[in-house]
Formats: sequence, C-alpha cells, structure tokens
Amino acid sequence: MTLLGPGPAPEGAGPGAPLEGIAALERIEVELAGVEQALVRLDAGTYGRCEVCAGPISDDVLAADPLTAVCSGHLELHLGSRDVHRHVP
Ligand SMILES: [Zn+2]
Repeated sequence: MTLLGPGPAPEGAGPGAPLEGIAALERIEVELAGVEQALVRLDAGTYGRCEVCAGPISDDVLAADPLTAVCSGHLELHLGSRDVHRHVP
C-alpha cells in the first residue's frame, strides 16, 4: 500500500513535461470554476435556469453540458455560434 498519488500516474509522465502539465492544470481550473459556479447556482436554487432570461434550461442542453448557465436560445449567443435557429417575432 502506498499513500502517494491516488490517481493513475503513468510512469514517464513525471517531471518531464511541465508545459503540458500547466496547460492541463489551466483546463482543469477552468472546469473547476464552472463547477463552482454551478454549485453556487444549485445553492441559490437557480441551477437549470438561464442567467440571461431566467427561463428553464432544457434537459438536452443540461445533458450536453451540465455546467451551462444559459438556455438553448441564449447558448448560441453565448457561444457566438452562427448556426442560429431564429424565431420570427
Ligand atoms: Zn435564456
């Protein structure tokens, strides 16, 4: 039994590649920030609601990205996607 490193630690990926490690850490930090924001929304009871219009976020959107904070209508704006299904007013 060892108390070192509970996760998988492939040998050879040790102190050899600091830049890759830093990039991976930054990605993890971004994800963590998203998780923390989702937890805050859970606490506040606003999880599953759009930050822009306060409308419900569809299950499809939440299934695709459980950390998303906007509804499908605003998701496209949020992501800057040009593939927009426009509603005619
Ligand atoms: Zn919305």
